[in-house]
Amino acid sequence: MAAPLSLPATTGAVICGAGVAGLAAAWHLAVRQGLRDLVIVDERPPFSLTSDKSTECYRNWWPDRPMIELTNRTIALFDELAAASGDAFALNRNGYLYLTATSGGAAALERGARTTAAAGAGELRIHPGAPDDPAWSEPRWNRPEPGPGGADLFLDPEEIRRRFPWVAADVRAALHARGCGWLSAQQLGMLFLEQARHAGARLVEGRLVDVEVERGRVAAVRVARGGAIERIATPLFVNAAGPFVAQVARRLGVELPIRHELHLKVFFDDELGLLPRRAPLAIWNDPVTVAWTEEERAGLAEDPATAPLLAEIPAGVHFRPEGGDDSHSAILLWNYHVEPIPEPVFPFAIDPLHLPVVLRGVARIAPAFAAYLERGRRPYVDGGYYSKTPENRPLIGPLSPEIEGAWILGALSGFGIMAAPAAGGLLAAQIAGEPLPDWARAFLPSRYSDPAYVAGLAALESGQL
Ligand SMILES: Cc1cc2nc3c(=O)[nH]c(=O)nc-3n(C[C@H](O)[C@H](O)[C@H](O)COP(=O)(O)OP(=O)(O)OC[C@H]3O[C@@H](n4cnc5c(N)ncnc54)[C@H](O)[C@@H]3O)c2cc1C
Repeated sequence: MAAPLSLPATTGAVICGAGVAGLAAAWHLAVRQGLRDLVIVDERPPFSLTSDKSTECYRNWWPDRPMIELTNRTIALFDELAAASGDAFALNRNGYLYLTATSGGAAALERGARTTAAAGAGELRIHPGAPDDPAWSEPRWNRPEPGPGGADLFLDPEEIRRRFPWVAADVRAALHARGCGWLSAQQLGMLFLEQARHAGARLVEGRLVDVEVERGRVAAVRVARGGAIERIATPLFVNAAGPFVAQVARRLGVELPIRHELHLKVFFDDELGLLPRRAPLAIWNDPVTVAWTEEERAGLAEDPATAPLLAEIPAGVHFRPEGGDDSHSAILLWNYHVEPIPEPVFPFAIDPLHLPVVLRGVARIAPAFAAYLERGRRPYVDGGYYSKTPENRPLIGPLSPEIEGAWILGALSGFGIMAAPAAGGLLAAQIAGEPLPDWARAFLPSRYSDPAYVAGLAALESGQL
C-alpha cells in the first residue's frame, strides 16, 4: 500500500479498516455524500484480512425482513455498479440451491421457504412435478442479469435430477433461490476504493491505537506507523475493524456483544471435471453421517476430539464452481464445528481433518466427487472469522449514545460482502442526519438497550451461511 509521507493534521472523517465494511462506508461518504476529506486507516493491505477470504456469494433469501431489505439494497447497488462499470466485478445471478434427501427435510424446506417469501424475499414457485407446474427459466450463466427473483421449490425427485443431474440420487427436494449469486469481491472492493480515492479519500497504512473523546465528542485518532504515533484531529470516526471491532470499541469505553467463529474455505482444483461447471451454489440441508472406512473409524474413535466425526455431522456443506466453463476450480465449505470464541486469534491453526471431512461432505451432494477421496490432494485452505452478534444481525449506526461522532459498521458475520455495500449507505445516511427506513432500526447498536428486544433475542432466527 502506498503510504503518504505524513498524515494530515486534521480531516473530516477517519475510518478504521479497509475491508468491505470500511471501503463501502468510504465510498458512500466520499462518492455519494460528497465528503471530500476522509482518511481510511488500515494496518494491513486493503481487503487482506477477512474480505478476501469469503466465498463471494450473495443472496436476498433470509428468514428475516431487515436482512432481506438490506441485501435487496445491496443487490440493487450491485446491479447499478455492474451496469456502470461494464461488469468490473464479474457479478452473476446463478442462484443458490438448497438440497435435502429426507421427507422431513423437504417439509422443513417448504415451511422455511414460505416464511422467507412471506417476509418479502420474493415469490415462491412450487413445482410438485405436475403438468401445470410453473415455468422455470435457467439462469443466464455467469451473467449479471436479474432473473425472476424469489425461489423455485422442486418437490419431484425426477424433475430435480433432470434439472440438476449431478446431485445425489436420493434428493427429495431442491430449493433454487434466484436473487442470489456471486462476484469478485476483491474487484468490488477495488472499485469502491478507486472511486472513493477519486472523490478525495486517502488510504493510509497504520495501526489505530486510540480515539480521543473530549466533552462527549470524538476529537482525534492516534495512529501508530513507522515507530511513531501520529495524531489526526477529526470530528467523525467509523469503526469498521472487522474481527477487531470490539477491541477498537473498547478504546472508546464501549463493550460490544460480539463472538467470533473460525470458518475455513477449500479452494479445489477439480482436475477430473467431476463437479458441474454450471451449478448454482449448492448447499446440503441435512446432517451427514460420513461413511468412514473401518481403519478410519478406529483412528477417529481413539481421540475424544475426533470421535464426534463418527456421529452425524451438522448440515451445511456447500460448494460452488469458480470461474467460467474452461476453469476447473471450485470452492468447498463445511464449517461443522464453529465454537464461538471471545477474541479472534491470528494466525489460526487449520485442522488437518478439515479437508477429508469437507471432501466427504461434497461427495454427499455430488457423488461423482468421491473419486477424490483416494487421490491425496492438497488443495489451498484459508479462512477467517465470522464476527457475530447474538442474533446474527450486523451493527450499523452510532457506536454509543454517549459519544457524538463515533460510528460502527461491523459484526458482518458470514454476510459482509452482501451486506456492507448497503450498510455503508445506511451509515452514511445516518451521519448526514437523514431518516432511517423502519427496518434499519434492527441494526442499530442501541437495540441492546431495549429490554424488550433483549428478552426476544433467543427467538430470533440466526439464518447463517
Ligand atoms: C470462509 C468465509 C466465507 C465467507 N463467505 C461469504 C460470502 O459468501 N458472502 C458474504 O457476504 N460474506 C462472506 N463471508 C463474510 C465476509 O467475508 C465478512 O463479513 C467481511 O469480509 C467482513 O468485512 P470487514 O470489512 O468487516 O472486515 P475485514 O475484511 O477483516 O476488514 C477489517 C480491517 O480492519 C483492519 N483493522 C482492524 N483493527 C485495526 C486497527 N486497530 N488499526 C488499523 N486497522 C485495523 C484490519 O487490518 C482489516 O483490514 C465469509 C467469511 C469467511 C471467513
